[in-house]
Amino acid sequence: MKAAALGQELIDLFDRGFSLDPLARPGPDEWRRALIRALHNCWVHDCGQAFVADKTTVNCPGCGAAIFILQTVSQLKIQFLPAGPRYGVELKDRVPIVLGRNNMPGLSPVVSGRHLEILPSQGKPLLRHVGRNPTLILQKGQWYQLKEAWVDMPTIAEPIQLRLADHELNIGSN
Ligand SMILES: [Zn+2]
Repeated sequence: MKAAALGQELIDLFDRGFSLDPLARPGPDEWRRALIRALHNCWVHDCGQAFVADKTTVNCPGCGAAIFILQTVSQLKIQFLPAGPRYGVELKDRVPIVLGRNNMPGLSPVVSGRHLEILPSQGKPLLRHVGRNPTLILQKGQWYQLKEAWVDMPTIAEPIQLRLADHELNIGSN
């Protein structure tokens, strides 16, 4: 493996880890944060090389092929539970994302063609129920019927948990 695959941040940390000056060496928290960030930015190129991408990454460290990493594109990751289909939908400000049978084949007829609308607005999603049967949202361990609500941008660790009629799903984001 080439060192470049680690990404510049980890390379810098390793260098400082072997510094002669003990005070310059990174502490456990700094290692932990950098490693978590690296995991989130880990990619596998078509050639099989795994690497950590950062803003300066323009070539695969394995085969040298030019690569293009869209750092700015954020996605909602929609997963039907317990092991249903997953969807990745690009998040664009003021562009509504509609979930329902129209664009998610395989859902049962109790889910409407257009069931839930997600409107990203300055980093916060507005959820709006537009279906026939209810949408439920889990908040602090309780299911509530959703009409319209602003929610915090979900993460992988803290997804939005919903029921579209009888289908349970999580919405996270990258
Ligand atoms: Zn490659």
